[in-house]
Amino acid sequence: MNRTIKSSVLIFCMALCSNVLSAQNESWTRSYPAVHVIGSLYSVGTYDLSVFLITSDEGHILINTGLEGSTEQIRENIEALGFALEDVHILLTQQAHWDHVAAMAEIKAITGAEMWATKDDARVLEDGGFSDAHFGGEETFEPLAVEKIIVQDDVIELGDIRLTVHDHPGHTEGSSSYSMVVEENGREYDVLIANMGSVNPGKQLAVDPTYPGVAADFAHTFTDQKTFAVDVWVAAHAIQYGLHDKWQPGQAYDPDTFVDPAGYLEAVESHENLFLQAMAAERIE
Ligand SMILES: [Zn+2]
Repeated sequence: MNRTIKSSVLIFCMALCSNVLSAQNESWTRSYPAVHVIGSLYSVGTYDLSVFLITSDEGHILINTGLEGSTEQIRENIEALGFALEDVHILLTQQAHWDHVAAMAEIKAITGAEMWATKDDARVLEDGGFSDAHFGGEETFEPLAVEKIIVQDDVIELGDIRLTVHDHPGHTEGSSSYSMVVEENGREYDVLIANMGSVNPGKQLAVDPTYPGVAADFAHTFTDQKTFAVDVWVAAHAIQYGLHDKWQPGQAYDPDTFVDPAGYLEAVESHENLFLQAMAAERIE
């Protein structure tokens, strides 16, 4: 593509993409029932935007929100499971993009929970998305304070929850995954709440990178993610982990429903291939 056309496409895309901030995808707001994934892990988000609840007798952890206005949907799903939103004590995110954190400030105010985040996602949470390397330069969600910075290998403990933090940067500078071991019916399951290394349209990796080191971050994430022995996995978007292929509303709980080690590896490799293609495309332009 020649440079002038490319920059007009880019400007058009930037205008369009900031409209995307409010225009949104219908599947991001469509309500969807709560899903018992495995053990104390539940999905309580919308049709496509994943919100995860991990419960304990001493309070719960909530990972991600949906768009602004998603709080009541999340509350209804949590209550349908017999839990209370007000019992959430720790808030986490997988990536500080508006589609996953825009209701976080409101949920924090309702629950009084602490927000814990990686250093780079904390910066973006605290300035409402302004310093996001790709979508920044404007506030894209209500800012909120972060009480605690989490780092690689931290184990988040609440009641009997033991949730390990994994730095999986690239999609955002501070993107993270979380893992835990769940015991069900005498079997141990390795569970990963994965942040997939997807490359947003318009993101620059190799040439004039969106942020310094972005390509190395993605490469690290794919290398690390391929080392995980995963039984059950879920991700920030339902479509990424095939929620709607694996489970239908009304389906009875079975700890094996989301067992999918091969699908996990395939998904990581397919994201890596898309990343490599995007890198190659920048180099030949
Ligand atoms: Zn994102």
